[in-house]
Amino acid sequence: MYDALTSRYAFSCPARGETSVTLSAFRSLEPLAGTSHPVVYRVVFACACGDEHPGLVTHDELDWAPLGFGGERFFNLMTSRLEDSAVELSDLAARRIQAGEWPWTFFCLPEERPRPVYPSSFFLIAAADRTVGVAVRCPVCSRTSVNLVTHSHVDLPFHNDAEVGVVRHLFWEEPIVEDFRSFLGSSEFDSRRLHL
Ligand SMILES: [Zn+2]
Ligand SMILES: [Zn+2]
Repeated sequence: MYDALTSRYAFSCPARGETSVTLSAFRSLEPLAGTSHPVVYRVVFACACGDEHPGLVTHDELDWAPLGFGGERFFNLMTSRLEDSAVELSDLAARRIQAGEWPWTFFCLPEERPRPVYPSSFFLIAAADRTVGVAVRCPVCSRTSVNLVTHSHVDLPFHNDAEVGVVRHLFWEEPIVEDFRSFLGSSEFDSRRLHL
């Protein structure tokens, strides 16, 4: 379950019971075969307990809940009332998208241009201290690019890095590198501007 106020997904952890992580703590995302309404993604996430665990996330939770299209409620400290945040958040998101801002973007290397994207197009994520490597399947050309970005670029909608690192090597097709993290360490990056 996604909490729009903390930008975190709640999962269960075999060691701690409950845990919650940001999107950049996801390590892999894969649509579960046989699910269509809604599509469910099988994810692996890096847990605070030090292990990685599997979890399930729906398409709506991945792409829409961070924008406030989820109907979650929040406790308003000013009025001490439980209020519905979805309307307010989604109005804001809709206005920003209409104004030409996009919640998530990446640089598509095969097309040599920035593209808008939703988190369901991310399929491998690796995080280091200050950077996150994301393998993205382009929604337009279906090819894969690997971008090096900040945590905020992944975790916070409408927070787009002005410039990102792009792995020069192209992933033309799967199978994808088994150890994505060490692949990132051994790859060369160019920087590209992300203005759409
Ligand atoms: Zn855990
Ligand atoms: Zn593309």
